[in-house]
Amino acid sequence: EPQIVWLRRDLRLTDHAAFTAAAQAGPVIPVYILDDETPGERKLGGASRWWLHHALESLQKDLGRHSSKLILRRGSVCDVLPKLAEETGAKTVHAIRHYDPWWRKAQGKLKDELDLQLHDGNYLLPPGSVTTGSGSPYKIFTPFKDSMFDAIHGFDILPEPSLSSPDSWPESDTLEDLDLLPTKPDWAGGMRAFWDGQHGTAAAMERFDRFLDVSKDYIDDRNLPSEDATSRLSPHLHHGEVSPRMLWDAMGNYTSEGARMFRAELIWRDYAQNLICQFPKYAMEPYREGYDDNFWRNPNRGHLIQEELEAWQMGQTGYPIVDAGMRQLWATGWMHNRVRMIAASFLVKHLLIDWRHGEKWFWDTLVDADYGSNGTNWQWVSGTGVDSNMFVRIMAPLSQSEKFDAGDYIREWVPELADLSDRDIHDPSDSCRPKSYPAKLIGHKEARERALETYRASKD
Ligand code: FAD
Repeated sequence: EPQIVWLRRDLRLTDHAAFTAAAQAGPVIPVYILDDETPGERKLGGASRWWLHHALESLQKDLGRHSSKLILRRGSVCDVLPKLAEETGAKTVHAIRHYDPWWRKAQGKLKDELDLQLHDGNYLLPPGSVTTGSGSPYKIFTPFKDSMFDAIHGFDILPEPSLSSPDSWPESDTLEDLDLLPTKPDWAGGMRAFWDGQHGTAAAMERFDRFLDVSKDYIDDRNLPSEDATSRLSPHLHHGEVSPRMLWDAMGNYTSEGARMFRAELIWRDYAQNLICQFPKYAMEPYREGYDDNFWRNPNRGHLIQEELEAWQMGQTGYPIVDAGMRQLWATGWMHNRVRMIAASFLVKHLLIDWRHGEKWFWDTLVDADYGSNGTNWQWVSGTGVDSNMFVRIMAPLSQSEKFDAGDYIREWVPELADLSDRDIHDPSDSCRPKSYPAKLIGHKEARERALETYRASKD
């Protein structure tokens, strides 16, 4: 009897417990359902859709090697899956468990209607695996990380199973029917150039091998945005072309500080899931009290604030490092982590705009946009989250820029400043700033004072 494997952000065959279980039970029907209903306002953003197209294409090829197929459908999973089960006579649906609040709801609902077998596998350990001494889930990263390191003793990676096909295949949409690529206008040129056709499991593992060669320098170089010194695997991990367990395992005997730091970054990814399991709205609502609409200069209060938000989005704030990051994001769908922190902090503290506007922009423009990771990092930068109150720790974008960029990153993404000296490029004075580059939206000192004053006033 055929077994359905329902795929979401787990677009791979290796280390995929749902594929493995299904293959043991019978012929396998893999299905991906493009569902813009179930996630509500969290439907996939534009950049994620672009990546998804290529990830699906690559999975189709991998399945082709097994003479298998990927069935594509559109609609609400709660309608489509039961129908597909009926059509094919499949009684069991296997899937990897996901923790985004809309998926948790849908998983619960589907379990009432069919035999849905959920398997772990997209995280190092399932959320809830490590707890504090008193048995509650962790809220703070460092003790969570330490417990994870203690709890993990390597992984048994599931090999790619051999798949047999059903007697007949159900109908499928084509990849083009899903309409995931931009057409008019085609804004994906920068993405194609940056990612250079590198999609799917094999490409991700190749990229990882390359990263291993430089991983001993990761501790120092991971903060330098002009260097290709981090793994850049975040979109592959987000869409599940590789599992973090595969990377942990492939790291094998690498014991450098850099290797440990990389593993700690993978634990950050698990940590974000641990938080959204405890606080499902973590990406949508500040955890701390006092950061409601009154606190922020919200764009709906006036067109000038709206214009500032747009200047940030388009990389026109007058702060070269912020603008370089925002333009890298717009062009490639990815931004270096150090610059994500600087740019996010600038929106929240310098412009005093609610972090949720930034979170939404990232949701639409990142190829790795992830409900848990994005929300967790935005709340962390903003100081509105579970960590001790950090709003008053205000990052200085200009000194960050001098510290982490020798100017090359800015020259690449803000070409109108390319001719400025290494000294001027971080903070071009009016006398050397080209006309095509805007003046600062607000001075650093003034912005800092405004933020601190707003904070003090909110406490009165
Ligand atoms: P590497 O340094 O090679 O790290 C390896 C992997 O560890 C990453 O691919 C990622 O899966 C994970 N990781 C690393 N840092 C973090 C982190 N701080 N939080 C969670 N996971 C992490 N990452 C996302 O995957 N999706 C997001 O939507 C996202 N939004 C962010 C928003 C803000 C404001 C900030 C400051 C960070 C955000 N990050 C997000 C985290 C981080 O910036 C990216 O994961 C990282 O830059 C990806 O590059 P890399 O693969 O080269 O990372």
